[in-house]
Amino acid sequence: MSIYFDNSATTKVRQEVVDAMMPYLMEEFGNPSSIHSFGRNSHKAISHARKQVADLLGCSPTEIYFSPCGTMSNNVAILGRARFVKANGLGQHLITTQIEHPSVLGPSKLLEAEGWKVTYLPVCGEGFLNPEDLRKAITKETSIISVMWANNEIGTVQPIAELGQVVMEEAAKHGTEIFFHTDAVQASAKVLIDLSSAQGVSALSISGHKFHAPKGIGGLFLRKGVNIMPITFGGGQEKALLPGTEGLANVVALGKAAELARLDLEECCSRLKELAQYLIAELSQIEGVQITGTRDLDRRLPGHVSITVENAEGEALVMQLDMKGVCASSASACHSGVIEPSHVLSALQLPCSRTKGSLRLSLGRYNTKEECDKAVEVMRAVFRPKPASKKTLTAGASK
Ligand code: PLP
Repeated sequence: MSIYFDNSATTKVRQEVVDAMMPYLMEEFGNPSSIHSFGRNSHKAISHARKQVADLLGCSPTEIYFSPCGTMSNNVAILGRARFVKANGLGQHLITTQIEHPSVLGPSKLLEAEGWKVTYLPVCGEGFLNPEDLRKAITKETSIISVMWANNEIGTVQPIAELGQVVMEEAAKHGTEIFFHTDAVQASAKVLIDLSSAQGVSALSISGHKFHAPKGIGGLFLRKGVNIMPITFGGGQEKALLPGTEGLANVVALGKAAELARLDLEECCSRLKELAQYLIAELSQIEGVQITGTRDLDRRLPGHVSITVENAEGEALVMQLDMKGVCASSASACHSGVIEPSHVLSALQLPCSRTKGSLRLSLGRYNTKEECDKAVEVMRAVFRPKPASKKTLTAGASK
């Protein structure tokens, strides 16, 4: 049996979630926009799911919009707000960080190409954004800020409530309105999110497949009174912001997954933290292994361990581990024969000898201590330092 340590890539759908969604594929298949009983039942199921998601995030159901995935939520938030900014003649300055997911960096680059000023803030060696750096970057032209709640590669959890406070203070100082979006695709259902207290957050993205719902369903929180304009057009669903016939069964699944996650969030979190702590302690003892991101597990995604293995190649490590039954992932990819670190590892300014061999182990609710023991044993064997080849020695000596 393989050990699945790639829960940041995607998760297994929970049995209770499958059970909840099945009727909406078979008996209750009505279009939620239809006014007959089939349609009304579907509409009711969608309203229920909206409440379940809102309860997970600490907001009102009227502030939740369903989307096809986290990528779409991020694009709608940033590009939709940018349309509103342009239509209202507001300042065209966007601030984001160097370690965002491509679904935030992509729209940011598009806006930059269209003439926006875009600031990509650096992070410290552990991957944290300093709130004072954000404060200094805000000007009276700043209208959009997007900072991820937690990073997929290095697990760093940003102080979003504190950053939101900075945004509100600076907006008040400049007499402007700043839209503060956060990509919480990795954070939601893993760290406590309470949007009733994080008042500085205007919009937030989530994705179901990261917390045991199926792939193909996401959500966007948009705070009451905050305006964005649609970037796609259709039948007016989701208050015309995310039009298209709702993926009914998937919406029901997202609601159920959110409800279940909320029930044991703290308990699951502390168990995953313990497993991560154990893995970190064991892996740190292996020669050439270093942890990336922070060792402070209160500021890291639960169950998330990211490392670099000196003089190794990330993709090769993933393949070797896979052959021995451990599924993990790497942030270093081989492009045209050259191993390149991801933009996230590059932003941490680690030396090349370290970033080439990156590896991410992301544990989820189904992983056990026994699996960690077995995986450590496998990794000890795989990471064993290789003797330098003759060729390397000669090449090294000539330099
Ligand atoms: N944002 C982050 C931080 C992610 O890790 C991912 C997916 O890995 C996404 C956005 C995109 O989400 P989705 O796969 O639902 O499009």
